[in-house]
Amino acid sequence: MHCPFCHANDTKVIDSRLVGEGNQVRRRRECLECIERFTTYEVAELAMPRIIKSDGTRTPFDAQKLQSGLLRALEKRPVSSETIEDITHRIMHKLRASGEREIPSSTLGEWVMDELRKVDEVAYVRFASVYRSFQDVNEFREEVQKLQTTIPTLQNETEEEVS
Ligand SMILES: [Zn+2]
Repeated sequence: MHCPFCHANDTKVIDSRLVGEGNQVRRRRECLECIERFTTYEVAELAMPRIIKSDGTRTPFDAQKLQSGLLRALEKRPVSSETIEDITHRIMHKLRASGEREIPSSTLGEWVMDELRKVDEVAYVRFASVYRSFQDVNEFREEVQKLQTTIPTLQNETEEEVS
């Protein structure tokens, strides 16, 4: 790395430490020519894929938007803010790990639905009804009926936990 003072080609690292919860490396460098010292920060560049909307337009991924969608689906549901944050992180991780440059919004929606189905059935149906915009009323009803058959067992589990 070039020296920002005298533009000499060679600088040496004299100290290196992790900062910012370990996702940054702070390095102290010293110029071999003018002996000036300076600091550099290194972060991994993990690009977020862009989202392909159903009308074909591309938009940058918006974590805020994802989180508010989750909050809307989970409104007045017994799910902690921590869980919502975990879901957001897991989905962002999936996006980065995909290695894709672009991801259809429908795929993103499916990931969110998978997550919601695991934590809260009601939130799942709420989200699905908005996101997937079911083809017709019957399709939506079928989905709800499928869930209703599983809900009694879920309720039993919560009762056991309480007592
Ligand atoms: Zn220098």
